[in-house]
Amino acid sequence: MKSTNITIIGGGACGISLFIELFLQLRIAGIHQDVSIHIIEENQQVGKGLAFGTRQPGHILNTQAQLMGIHHAEPEHFSDWLKEHNKRVAPEVVDNQGQGEAFTTRRLYGDYLQEQFDYYFELAQKEGMQLNLVKASAVGVTQLNNSYKVQLSDGNEISSDYLVLALGTPVSNLYGELLEHKNYFDSPWPSSKILENVPREEPVAILGSSLSAIDALMTLADNGHKGKITFYSLDGLLPKVQVEKPEAYERQYLTISNLHKIQRTKLRSPMVSEVFRLFIKEAEHFTGEKIDWKNAARLDKTPHERLKEDIAISQAGGDALINIPYALRYDSSPMWNMLDEAARLKFKKWLGNYWAVNRHCMPMVNALRIEKLFNSGQLHVVSELDDVAYDQEDKTFVLSYQDKSDKVEYLINATGPASAVKDMKSELVQHLAKTGLIEPEKTGGVKINTETMQLIQQGKSVPNFYALGHLANGLLLDVNAVWFNVKTIGNLSHHLINNILSENTL
Ligand SMILES: Cc1cc2nc3c(=O)[nH]c(=O)nc-3n(C[C@H](O)[C@H](O)[C@H](O)COP(=O)(O)OP(=O)(O)OC[C@H]3O[C@@H](n4cnc5c(N)ncnc54)[C@H](O)[C@@H]3O)c2cc1C
Repeated sequence: MKSTNITIIGGGACGISLFIELFLQLRIAGIHQDVSIHIIEENQQVGKGLAFGTRQPGHILNTQAQLMGIHHAEPEHFSDWLKEHNKRVAPEVVDNQGQGEAFTTRRLYGDYLQEQFDYYFELAQKEGMQLNLVKASAVGVTQLNNSYKVQLSDGNEISSDYLVLALGTPVSNLYGELLEHKNYFDSPWPSSKILENVPREEPVAILGSSLSAIDALMTLADNGHKGKITFYSLDGLLPKVQVEKPEAYERQYLTISNLHKIQRTKLRSPMVSEVFRLFIKEAEHFTGEKIDWKNAARLDKTPHERLKEDIAISQAGGDALINIPYALRYDSSPMWNMLDEAARLKFKKWLGNYWAVNRHCMPMVNALRIEKLFNSGQLHVVSELDDVAYDQEDKTFVLSYQDKSDKVEYLINATGPASAVKDMKSELVQHLAKTGLIEPEKTGGVKINTETMQLIQQGKSVPNFYALGHLANGLLLDVNAVWFNVKTIGNLSHHLINNILSENTL
């Protein structure tokens, strides 16, 4: 068999999961000694990307351990690993120790990723596989028919038959005009730049009120910040609180079969209004009574009052608004695929924020900490943020909202990762977009074949060129979850290895 090279750009959760799955399946196919794998990682360590590279104790997983396994088809692997190494890891398990519903620090998860990588890297080498972990940034790619040349920041180049982009979650370059100001932090990560530059007594403004904003808050709270902390966001909504053991709920209305019935009877894709009507039916079936949808967002209550209510709702087993999105876990991406582009854009515009706060809830541990910060008067949440400007004269940021404005010296942008390719702060992503090697998708991310994870150029799947994770955030709803990405890695590995085998039988 002719030797084949696979290159994975990005040694984070997706890159590691893919490397291990490829090694396993190539070993089982008996062709691992004819295939070499290059993993290009710009950080000094693998497994320490944006999500799992943090060292902050307050940055915890927002997903239960039993869904965080890095091996394909084994979501419980991480939770089993925790039980196996209980003595060593116990200090990093922040809730439900010894259970599948355990929550741990994200730094422990990064260590788990590294440990898995180190074990299988060594095993694969022992098994005679050629492997290269290249510590550099990939800054460019050239496509030569069906093979690729990757340009590196150190001037070197890697030739490859197969190329996979596992670049993680580039921070956004929104508010780029504020970058020149020294007390502006364009993302909550790495936390070191915030801790080294923000005096503990000073008031701090945080743009956003989602999980990213909570990360910034925990960084400050973990390090004894005393000054006032204020979230500024469009809707002032915090993520809701995760139900630890949600009761199983079988959906009756918002189902793949009902969406397919619309396709079959109307010969078109379902509309957002139809999906929302099915959600209303489902929610009222769940509660057994009519819901006052006008007040469902509870905007008449303060963020603190809403949080207290959400903690109580979660402790009582949840409600329709959080339990149904969670019950949709394994169907939401296939359902998303049944919508056309116009419907997906409408959903993001109309329901995007409500979906986010109900579907990506915060763990109870964080909710209780935030409640304390509200009680102490340190935390405030402001809605209807209208504008952010810089006052040169008194060197402050001016945040305008509700016909008012606040001036503050320290500002953290925690509005979350960029969805659109143009807003992604990544030299490689911008190069790939400029050269047409990736094509932006209107709903975010890039055009991709959602079955094989091959990139799409001019409507066609590109041979031997794939992407994983956040880059596919427009067409795949759950790329912000390891369990989902690991599933797509199974499909990608299967497709890629079949290609290698079919090319060698020709
Ligand atoms: C703050 C945060 C918290 C999250 N928490 C959770 C959670 O609790 N549970 C969950 O399931 N999901 C969580 N996610 C979602 C998470 O992003 C996905 O789960 C994803 O699977 C992470 O893996 P990844 O490989 O895509 O990204 P990462 O793990 O970030 O890895 C990407 C890697 O690519 C490298 N890289 C990028 N560009 C280049 C380049 N040009 N050259 C070389 N190397 C490069 C980076 O250095 C990084 O190591 C979180 C995301 C964020 C941002």
